[in-house]
Amino acid sequence: MTTQVSPHHVDWLNQGLRYYALNVYFRHRFGGRVQKISLDGGFTCPNVDGTVAIGGCTFCSNRAFSPSRRVRRQAIQRQIEEGISRLRRRYKNERFLAYFQPATNTYGPLEKLRDLWDAALEDPRVLGLVIGTRPDCVADEVLDLVDQFAERTYVSLELGVQTIHDASLEWMNRGHGHAASLDAMRRAAGRKFDISLHIMLGLPGETHAMMMATAEQVARWHPAGVKIHNLYAVEKTPLADEVRAGKTRLLELDEYIHLLADFLERLPPDVVIERVSGDAPPQDLIGPAWCLEKGEIIKRLNAEFERRGTHQGARYDAARYQLD
Ligand code: SF4
Repeated sequence: MTTQVSPHHVDWLNQGLRYYALNVYFRHRFGGRVQKISLDGGFTCPNVDGTVAIGGCTFCSNRAFSPSRRVRRQAIQRQIEEGISRLRRRYKNERFLAYFQPATNTYGPLEKLRDLWDAALEDPRVLGLVIGTRPDCVADEVLDLVDQFAERTYVSLELGVQTIHDASLEWMNRGHGHAASLDAMRRAAGRKFDISLHIMLGLPGETHAMMMATAEQVARWHPAGVKIHNLYAVEKTPLADEVRAGKTRLLELDEYIHLLADFLERLPPDVVIERVSGDAPPQDLIGPAWCLEKGEIIKRLNAEFERRGTHQGARYDAARYQLD
């Protein structure tokens, strides 16, 4: 595979940044600040409803996902109105992306997907769509439909790959293996929409070498973006019980920062780093407590890069051919 690095990565390096952050990408792509409005399209997941598993992912608080929820066009438009008025108060901007976020947002009939996405785009302040889903829920017809929307607007398809290791996917009760990610990425390649991959670090049983093998595969896939966070535990999940029983250990901040820097060094410099920390509701978080300190995580990451004299992509070429 050839290395195709867009000129944008030079831009962030020239600005003295250590990685290609989402706000920098939005400036490149949209000319300024854009906020995402989180929308609930009323979906569930195939590992919640019994199709491939029950109970959902080990770490996910998915009790609200019910297959019987029906969300209509008007409800999406109301969520957009509410989201915009909330975000406007905080950020004073007028440009938004409709983010279909909770559960698996392509797990439904094509007509429902088309209807919800159309409804979101009716608002002229919405510049595009972000659609969160799983690698085993993107049949060719779904990808074709996403492609049709990408012809008229910005679309990012977020795939929850998490890891390339089947044992970890099994531990998390994912209901699919790495083969599903390989298959989805093969079929999604070369289409008109962006692909962003969700990755977790610190999964039980994963060694440094295993996590770097995931980084290698992400580098090979060369998606438009990645979202990375550490494994964290929230109330009323199987992981919460494992952590309380001392069966699963969560990463310390220092460990995470080292892993994160190692991971980012192996990614191509034009992959947008959309997130380096999770979104745990503070009242439900069991641990680690530091994962709520987003600003501190970014500060520590930048300090680690500075200490090493490196940045995202610094080990990219080596990483393409050689695993630790
Ligand atoms: S992590 Fe994603 S796939 Fe897993 S149960 Fe939660 S929403 Fe569904």
